[in-house]
Amino acid sequence: MRLFASDLHLDPARPDITGQFLEFLAGPAREAGALYLLGDLFEAWLGDDSPDPLGQQVIDALAMLSVAGIALFVMQGNRDFLIGQGFCEAVGGTLLTDPTIVTLGAERVLLTHGDALCTGDAGYQRLRSLVRDPEVQGAFLSLQVERRRDLAAQARAGSRAHLAAADEYITDVSQGAVERALADAGASILLHGHTHRPGVHRFRVAGRDCTRIVLGDWHHRGSVLRWDGTGYELLELPR
Ligand code: MN
Repeated sequence: MRLFASDLHLDPARPDITGQFLEFLAGPAREAGALYLLGDLFEAWLGDDSPDPLGQQVIDALAMLSVAGIALFVMQGNRDFLIGQGFCEAVGGTLLTDPTIVTLGAERVLLTHGDALCTGDAGYQRLRSLVRDPEVQGAFLSLQVERRRDLAAQARAGSRAHLAAADEYITDVSQGAVERALADAGASILLHGHTHRPGVHRFRVAGRDCTRIVLGDWHHRGSVLRWDGTGYELLELPR
């Protein structure tokens, strides 16, 4: 049985979310063969060399899970895109590129955080290319942690202004981008988070039945996809 989650947005200001996630790691996650975290585990991540106390607490809990034999896979999100090899080594997990294809039962499943599919927001896609540029990331990571924190706070303020202008609306994925991604991957199932719109969508691409499964965020409750030999189930975990 494999479990998938994304968009926890762990934040020192929200101990209720952290508490629920730590209980999940110590409980239901122990029954899984593998746990996949598909981006935005953290609200902010300034680099693997500078975990704050919350980051360290989560690293320790994930490391205990992987030591217990549960395979751990981690994908970057748009908030924690600086999670890297150091983090994955610390937790005993594997860093997944975005997107990644996995085989679940007889299905080829495309895993992605989801922000790359939001092609309707051109401004966001420009920002995404910039912050994903290895040179830009290298320059940022070479700064002192305090300076990185200041820059991240400024970026968040800018992002809030953008969101306010867009009426706090997270752009949804574009159906065209979804269909291209599935066709390119030769997959019929897409699993992503990011949009905070949990659900299961069915449609046809080039005569083939396809499914898009969307993980929810953990803002008010947990959201987990459970996949075992009998199929999948999108679960809400009450807080
Ligand atoms: Mn996201």
